[in-house]
Amino acid sequence: TPNVRPLVAGNWKMNGTRDSLDQIKAISEGVKGDLSEKVESLICPPATLLYVATALCEDSPLWIGAQDCHQNASGAHTGEISADMIADCFGTHVIVGHSERRTDHAETDHLVRAKAIAANAAELTAIICIGETADERKSGQTLDILKRQLAGSVPDDANAENTVIAYEPVWAIGTGLTPTSENVAEAHAFMRAELTRRFGDEGAKMRILYGGSVKPSNAKELMSVDNVDGALIGGASLKASDFLAIYNAYS
Ligand code: PEP
Repeated sequence: TPNVRPLVAGNWKMNGTRDSLDQIKAISEGVKGDLSEKVESLICPPATLLYVATALCEDSPLWIGAQDCHQNASGAHTGEISADMIADCFGTHVIVGHSERRTDHAETDHLVRAKAIAANAAELTAIICIGETADERKSGQTLDILKRQLAGSVPDDANAENTVIAYEPVWAIGTGLTPTSENVAEAHAFMRAELTRRFGDEGAKMRILYGGSVKPSNAKELMSVDNVDGALIGGASLKASDFLAIYNAYS
């Protein structure tokens, strides 16, 4: 998208112990340089590594974020993490509504929107994930699903600063399968139109990432599709060399 800085983001999911900080350090070094003026980078490690990871990246353009937050600011919610706690650890972004959260924790669009609102209230950028299942694609419902998820999950005061959309076809996550460039182009053009209709200029500039089996070998092709403003990367973000190869697809 013209005049939009792409974002290459990694989601470590439930992977990573202190040993893995070496990979974060290598990524934080690898993204230093001219490309960082054109392309943003982010790693979302598990919450246990958040504070030490941000300390490691103090002098790097690499942002560090979290994978989820609670919708409330504080209180009796054992095991949960608030958006303020993420900000307190110097996290800058939080993923909300990942399909694994929607499936494993029955998260609805309504809840995902509440989480995005909580994230924005703590001055975090919310990365709101949406995407169709294999059955929904087979039965031709993809665009209807995306429309409903965008309408339900994205807050009314979303803008290009506080919100990033991640289109992740559920069937492409962790499977090695990816949609064709034509399918990606169709979905992203549709989301762009929906966002622009609802948010005007902010929607026209809002980043829409593609996620689902992005790897070094397919990054260039996927990232060159119209309206694809970066990637959300699961498996391939765990290895610094793979993450950096995808990031460098923009060079
Ligand atoms: C993800 O879960 O956000 C993801 C895109 O995973 P993978 O890259 O492993 O398919």
